[in-house]
Amino acid sequence: MSMRLLVLDLDGTLWDHEDASRLTPPYELHGECILDANGEELCLFPGVREFLDWASRRFILTIVSWNVEERVRPILEGFGLWDYFIFPKIEGHPNKADMIRRTLDELSSIGHGTKDVIYVDDRCIHVDEIKTTLPKVDFVHTWVGVKSFEELRELLEEMG
Ligand SMILES: [Mg+2]
Repeated sequence: MSMRLLVLDLDGTLWDHEDASRLTPPYELHGECILDANGEELCLFPGVREFLDWASRRFILTIVSWNVEERVRPILEGFGLWDYFIFPKIEGHPNKADMIRRTLDELSSIGHGTKDVIYVDDRCIHVDEIKTTLPKVDFVHTWVGVKSFEELRELLEEMG
């Protein structure tokens, strides 16, 4: 079966915090925000939940994030979002090309060929490396190419 893969960054893309690895569990949930053990706040951007719900019916969703998994996975679990993602990568290095390549291999090993790969990030620093290794990946630059999750949804619908 051939599916479209949507690869999402976390910091500055799904939520407003620039370095979620700085937060300290346990986290306290307050609606669309969480507070960490020191009272530091991290909030989802507007429309993230609706977007993931919509996207999960059309794409395989995954994560590539340069972060510390033990600190960041509980944030996604706290928001109830962790189960949307298949083979998510939250790793302490910036090699997102390698993270995407391994996810594609893992998907292929369970019988999922991937037709299109769309990579969504608020920073373009990883794009050149990704394009070199995985030339068929399309990049969407959040807050530049699209200004909201509503616009991201519209763009993905246009991309067919
Ligand atoms: Mg980011």
